[in-house]
Parts: sequence; C-alpha cells; structure tokens
Amino acid sequence: MTQLQKILIASALSLCSAVMYAQTSRCNSMHHLRQHIAKDPTLANRMIQNEAVTQAYIQNAKHQKASGVKNIITIPTVVHVIWNDPVENVSDDQIFSQMLVLNEDFRLLNSDSLDSQHPFWSSTVDSEIEFCLASQDPDGNPTNGITRTQTSVVVWDDNIQDDIKYSANGGKDNWDPTRYLNIYVVNLGGTTLGFAQFPDELSSNPNGDGVVIRYEAFGTEGTAGTGSFGANNLGRTGTHEVGHWLNLRHIWGDTICGDDLVSDTEPAEDANYNCPTFPYNDNNTCGSGPDGEMYMNYMDYTDDNCMSMFTAGQALRMQATLNGARSGLLTSNGCQVPSKSNTLKSSPQFSIFPNPSQSGMFSLEWESSSISARVIVEDLTGRSIGKAQALESGVNVLNLSYLSSGAYLLRIESVQGSSSHKIFIQ
Ligand SMILES: [Zn+2]
Repeated sequence: MTQLQKILIASALSLCSAVMYAQTSRCNSMHHLRQHIAKDPTLANRMIQNEAVTQAYIQNAKHQKASGVKNIITIPTVVHVIWNDPVENVSDDQIFSQMLVLNEDFRLLNSDSLDSQHPFWSSTVDSEIEFCLASQDPDGNPTNGITRTQTSVVVWDDNIQDDIKYSANGGKDNWDPTRYLNIYVVNLGGTTLGFAQFPDELSSNPNGDGVVIRYEAFGTEGTAGTGSFGANNLGRTGTHEVGHWLNLRHIWGDTICGDDLVSDTEPAEDANYNCPTFPYNDNNTCGSGPDGEMYMNYMDYTDDNCMSMFTAGQALRMQATLNGARSGLLTSNGCQVPSKSNTLKSSPQFSIFPNPSQSGMFSLEWESSSISARVIVEDLTGRSIGKAQALESGVNVLNLSYLSSGAYLLRIESVQGSSSHKIFIQ
C-alpha cells in the first residue's frame, strides 16, 4: 500500500471514529480537518496530490542534504490576542516567552533536549526554522507584531472555532496567510489546548489559516499553566500546533498504529499522555523497536516538560511545506522594518539583523551617510540601557552580549525624529 492510499484510509477511518465517539482531545486540528473534508470532499483528493509533491521534495532533498550547510528560514509571525475577560488579554512579555519557545524548539536550542546517550538523540535535529514577531504589517506599516481585539464571545466552543479568524464574527481577520504565520490566543472551550489549519487548505480556505492556542497554554509566564493546565506551562502547545501548520501529523497517525507520513518516528499504537518512562511500549503491536514509542516528540500528547524533539524526517517535511504550499513566506518582508518609518520623517533606510540574535551581537545597516543619527538601547519600558552609539553609514556592529535574554528596543534618533524597533536576544 502506498503512503497516499494510507493517508486516504486514515482520513476515512478518523472520520468514522469521530462519528462513533467524541474524544476529548488536547488538539482539535484533525477534528477541524475532518469537518472541512466533510463539507468539501475535494479536499481529500487535493491532500493526496499535495502529499505526492511533499514526498517528491523529501526524496530529492535527502539526496542533496550532505553539504552540512544550514539554510535558516525565518517566518514572520503575528500574534492576535482576542479577549473577553481581561485575564485573557495576555501581556507582551507572555507573547515574547512563546516566541522564545518556538525559536528554541525549532532550532534545537531547548535546554531539555535529549542527551547524546539517548537512543533517539541520533534522530533529533535542528529544523532550521525560526520565527520573528512581524515588524511590518500587510500594508507596509510598522508594527510590533501583536494585535488585540476585545470580543463579546465568552468561550470559543468547537462549533464556532472557525469564527476566531473573522472580525465580523467576534474574532480577527488573519493577515495575508501566504506571508505571515497568524497565531491566535483565545479562551477555547472544554479542555482543547489548540488547533491549526494544515497547509492543504491554504489555497481553498486562506481566511481560515492560522494557529489557535488557549490562553492558559500559551507561552511560559503570565496565564501559562494556570487553572487545570499546569502540565501545559512551557509553550509546547505552540510548538505542536505550528508543527501541524507546517504539515506534521500526530506521531500515532490519528488511528491505531496509524502512519504519520514520516519514516524516522517509531510507529505508535495511540496517543501518549502524561510522561511515560523510557523505554515505553517497546516492541509494540505496530512494530516499534526495542526503544519503544517516541513519546518525547512534540507531535505526541505528552506533558510540556516531557516533549523535546522533532526528527530529521519531520524537519524535512516542514521544509517541504516551506518550499511548497507555504513558499510565500520565503519572500515575505514581514520581518523587515518598513523602509518608510512613520516617525522618521524622510525615511533613512536601515535594517537590523539577525533578529532574534543568539549571541547578543547585531548588525545595524544605516544607508544614509548624510543624516547623523545615534542608536540607544532601551528596555521595554523605554528606560535606556548603556550609552548611545553614533551610527555611521554602512554596517554598525552593536555588541549587546552583556544583556540577558529577552526583548529590548533599539531607538534610533536623528534630527528628523526617532523610531523604535524591537529586538530579541536568546
Ligand atoms: Zn495536534
């Protein structure tokens, strides 16, 4: 049986099981996919066609992947906070904490990764994907990458969750999904932690694209882990749902001994919960090896402090998506500071990179030799840190390695005015 036939059968089986019993699930991604397939039966066929393209990319990439050269892709991200009760209006710092987790987990910078003696360490990879909070909105205006919307909707239950992406229905219209990752923070009904729309639907349902995360399972501070969500306090719901958004399936393939369309994840009988002990369910009925199931994979259902890895096969699948259905992100300017600043009057051009920076070293390229300017580092309250540095034309090096991890502001002052730009140190 081919991969494509398997996915078709898995989708059909999942549809049946959804009808037979409503399972309490931490993730609603497959629930919504099944509903959308029921409404639009052509979606299943498109998924099969897309999967053929994905597998072709993966086969080709496997041959080419010997150089060892990293090709980092940065995804412009906007976080839409939709709140009814003020507690749901999560802080900027909580949003930064989620961005940090995404950047750590997708780049294998998470401090809880498996140790090098672990049998699954050899499958663990840096997926070479990063995220920035957008500096430029779809209209080219400066932004901090965060929108806030007060709503009359108290709880987003299953049957109205599609409305989260529509301003007219109490939610918030997504930003151009071919150029941005849209992350929504809301009060989801029941125990659902989040859900994402798969890339297969980007062309047919662009307005529905994005990732949704409940406010108690978002980031690592503030409301993260509150209430009955203590095990979801490390931002891994975001990692899991962005994995779906980049076309990853659950590790157990959403049916007993199902296929997740990735060759290097051990076959799993079903979803795993809490935090099993290694090796778990070794030599299982679906043919796992003596090391058992990969319950520490981000695409399982285990606790946040139990999951810590993507595999090479999963990373390739995500990269196939970024070079396929979501290739618009590769040329998106969402991470770039707009060239025409609203506050600097005659638009001297500059860019700041890398952002985020892991070392605390930034390059600030200042393209206007005729305008004297200086840059000041500030904390998020606008308090200056250290001395101002004069900007010279060309590349200026900013050594901020003495600062601890977090978000800061770079304020650029010239005779024409000033503007502030957010930077991140990891
Ligand atoms: Zn999921």
